[in-house]
Amino acid sequence: MMDVIVVGAGPAGSAAAAILARSGCRVAVLDRARFPRAKPCGDYLNPGCDAVLDRLGVREALARQARPVRGMRIVPARGDAVALPFPRDVGWAIPRRLLDHVLLAHAAASGAHVVEEARVVGLEQEARAVRVRVERPGPRHEQHAARLLIGADGLRSTIAGMTGAGGPPRRGRYTVGAYLEGLRPEPGDPRGEYGELHLGVDRYCGVAYLAGGLANVTIALPRGGLRAWRGALEARYWDALRAFPGLAGRLAHARRASEFRASGPLAYWRRRAACGRVLLAGDAAAYIDPLTGQGIYLALRGAELAASYAHRALAGGAAVPAPRAPLPALREYERARRREFGPVFLLSRVLQRLAFSPALQHRATQRIAAQPDLGVRLIGALGNLERAGTVLCPGFVARVLGIG
Ligand SMILES: Cc1cc2nc3c(=O)[nH]c(=O)nc-3n(C[C@H](O)[C@H](O)[C@H](O)COP(=O)(O)OP(=O)(O)OC[C@H]3O[C@@H](n4cnc5c(N)ncnc54)[C@H](O)[C@@H]3O)c2cc1C
Repeated sequence: MMDVIVVGAGPAGSAAAAILARSGCRVAVLDRARFPRAKPCGDYLNPGCDAVLDRLGVREALARQARPVRGMRIVPARGDAVALPFPRDVGWAIPRRLLDHVLLAHAAASGAHVVEEARVVGLEQEARAVRVRVERPGPRHEQHAARLLIGADGLRSTIAGMTGAGGPPRRGRYTVGAYLEGLRPEPGDPRGEYGELHLGVDRYCGVAYLAGGLANVTIALPRGGLRAWRGALEARYWDALRAFPGLAGRLAHARRASEFRASGPLAYWRRRAACGRVLLAGDAAAYIDPLTGQGIYLALRGAELAASYAHRALAGGAAVPAPRAPLPALREYERARRREFGPVFLLSRVLQRLAFSPALQHRATQRIAAQPDLGVRLIGALGNLERAGTVLCPGFVARVLGIG
């Protein structure tokens, strides 16, 4: 029997598997996909990821394929853009197809047993073990058992559904993204070293410049907005890009170089992260709208927490105290997540509320341009370089909104 089965080989699953395998655990990672595989994403890793990637021992391998991101440029619906350089470290831009493949290869090299094209369809918890039923191509079925299971199977987590932790989200924005070539860089950033966030009244667009002259250009919009795109996706996508003032003049030579990738609904969504011998990590445990670009950080850092508490649970060797009650170490995991990520989720949700008022966008970007220390604190918190609590205080909010 394995010590730990990890379901899902996105950033959360592969990182947790690598850490556990390196510390001597017997770990299997199961994913329904064959890698490399694409995943709808803005392809931006915030600077908080840098230190986690370094601790994982995968930063150098990633840096060979990724482009460094030096800061974020926020472009309001009206008024001037503001550039927010990261106070330290760098972010990275890399297609998820590559990122996830590098992380999974690292997990395998660390000693994890990787099983691709393995879709988990059933789960059974016992006092001292957890068993999963897996569908493989063929079709054939397999059973795998372990002392613990980490569900890192994404926002629509099957594991969360099977443990009763909660179903998939039903509200939120929808996204449509593609890789473009020929997007003219912003004049203030001719080498495309900054990520861009273009804000509208009910939508936003993220831009990340990638190696090879490509840019990931992803629009997020409400369900009603997307309905109007039906049957004319191509035309509506370009119309929507032209409607962002910061993009309108830069599209003359731009051309779509990939399929469209759509996803949604996406909104804040949190589940119970421990049940019996099962931990949830990454999007399976909690999700925030991609607006603030923190999902991959939360997946990687959450994997470190999951691995650490899984280790304690294995060392404790306890039986599950009652059906659905988490092992004591996993109860602690839930608390540790709440302590560390609670303020991050709160900041993201506050910004979701404020970001779509053109008047507030305008005022905040003006104030930040005039008082750069505000921008440093904000991007430090959004980049997960500083604690979110440093900007979640009335004094800071009042200064940004010009009411202090
Ligand atoms: C449009 C969009 C743009 C985004 N942009 C950004 C961004 O720029 N920066 C950022 O930080 N975050 C961004 N995010 C969020 C980010 O993508 C997620 O937070 C991140 O992928 C979470 O990683 P994860 O490992 O938890 O899950 P995932 O990356 O979703 O991986 C889950 C894995 O589980 C596998 N799986 C699912 N079900 C099963 C099953 N039953 N059996 C076996 N395997 C299964 C899947 O195949 C997948 O490989 C964006 C999200 C979206 C949708």
